[in-house]
Amino acid sequence: MIKLDDAYHTDNIFAKILRGELPSIRLYEDAETLSFMDIMPQVPGHVLVIPKTPATNILTLPEPAGAALIRTVQIMSRAVQVAMDAPGLLIAQLNGSAAGQTVPHIHMHILPRHDGLELAFHAREPADPSELEEIAKKIRAAL
Ligand code: 5GP
Repeated sequence: MIKLDDAYHTDNIFAKILRGELPSIRLYEDAETLSFMDIMPQVPGHVLVIPKTPATNILTLPEPAGAALIRTVQIMSRAVQVAMDAPGLLIAQLNGSAAGQTVPHIHMHILPRHDGLELAFHAREPADPSELEEIAKKIRAAL
């Protein structure tokens, strides 16, 4: 259960990815943010963006880190749109278990949307790693 007033814990999955203790398919990194593939994508091309600043949710994210996060969301959105030839983009950010948040390090989801292509369940089905890597190559090439 992730509550809105939870303190930040450095043992969460995304903190470990940031420290390089867990693998991830990285797409983009700068001084303040990191972007990588979601391993249980709701559509092909589902990308995550996280700030390096430790914050559980939107309520505790310092404004400069929020600005950096949005800047990278824009950079990644353009690349995802081109790479996936997407006519639409869904940007999502969940706060607290009641909203569906499962990882307690703030992150933004970028999902390319196409008419008639339904979303898979949230954080349910791991994708084939080689398929994720193929899509990652296309997204990196569009950066
Ligand atoms: P939330 O539910 O917190 O908004 O989103 C967490 C997202 O992280 C989900 O979409 C889920 O598929 C993804 N996810 C969970 N564990 C991992 C992991 O170990 N690596 C990556 N790359 N994504 C993960």
